[in-house]
Amino acid sequence: MSRAFNFSAGPAAVPDAVLREAQAELLEWHGERASVMELSHRGAAFEAMAAESEQDLRDLLAIPDNYRVLFLQGGATQHFAQIPMNLAAQDQTADYIVTGAWGQKAVAEAAPYVRVHTAASSEAGGFRSIPPRTQWQLTDGAAYVHYTPNETIHGVEFFEIPDVGDAPLVADVSSMFLSRPLDVSRFGLLYGGAQKNVGASGLVIVIVRDDLLARQPRPMAKILNYRAHAEQHSLLNTPPTFAWYLAGRVFKWLKAQGGLAAIEEINRQKAALLYSAIDSSGGFYSNPVQRDCRSRMNVPFTLHDSSLDAPFLAESSAAGLLALKGHKMVGGMRASLYNAMPLDGVRALVAFMHDFARRHG
Ligand SMILES: *Cc1c(COP(=O)(O)O)cnc(C)c1O
Repeated sequence: MSRAFNFSAGPAAVPDAVLREAQAELLEWHGERASVMELSHRGAAFEAMAAESEQDLRDLLAIPDNYRVLFLQGGATQHFAQIPMNLAAQDQTADYIVTGAWGQKAVAEAAPYVRVHTAASSEAGGFRSIPPRTQWQLTDGAAYVHYTPNETIHGVEFFEIPDVGDAPLVADVSSMFLSRPLDVSRFGLLYGGAQKNVGASGLVIVIVRDDLLARQPRPMAKILNYRAHAEQHSLLNTPPTFAWYLAGRVFKWLKAQGGLAAIEEINRQKAALLYSAIDSSGGFYSNPVQRDCRSRMNVPFTLHDSSLDAPFLAESSAAGLLALKGHKMVGGMRASLYNAMPLDGVRALVAFMHDFARRHG
């Protein structure tokens, strides 16, 4: 077996223990004499799994009772559009805080459904920092305020939940979900794709406060309507059953790790190790992000000489370190350190980087 340390930004690594468990029960799940992916989503076994996975997620995040948890499809990208459709009338204003490429995409997809106001953006500085809260130009009576707690491409992360007054705060948590505890009660709606930190692609988790489901600002097909999905416990149509099952296994795995405070501590150590290797490389490697908002999940870095990029990628892959190529928007490298990446994987990466710099410096 040659399973390597996988630094992919997404779809990303899944914990070995979860994959082994899924493998062991792939043909016959739960005494059903069939695979979980072959069973009706209307059957008792699947419904019990669905309810248990929701409860495990509620336990992990301490989700208050006045929030619904939805297991949906479409990727975070579809929800860039579905959020304004569900939360705002056409002539209302929604504020967006843009700290990277995903926030920009959220703005573009929302624009047909709401008046989008970019209340703050760090684009002029190349998305290397978070605009100070005092400079945000929030709209009185905004339908909601949207931000991206972790920008997966630019590697910029908020470590505090911003105070935006009375407007519901909406967050695209795709690439930081379950990497640390989060006070759900501060949000109106949280959403994220599963393929970064929760398992397989095809599943989006939406956590939404009850009062927002009452808004119903426009007529729309049920399949787009969050309230309709909530009423049907996310079984309005066939959900991505296997991805949902896998997410449930990941929740159990997180609980076994000691929950989100425990995983946060490991994530902190992993990020500290890698940033310290970059910062102490004498300029061989560099990361452009302001220190107080450097992402713990996605670490972009460049080599001082871009002609070394190709050998870096070839040699790292040969050394069992996968998917380090950076996003084309920022170039260079990117190491994604989601929950499934063990500390040993980061130690191996740092040792490789040190050795590579020594040989090519
Ligand atoms: C990956 C990602 C997305 C896009 O997810 P899709 O499933 O491809 O739609 C959106 N936002 C953030 C922050 C992401 O990391």
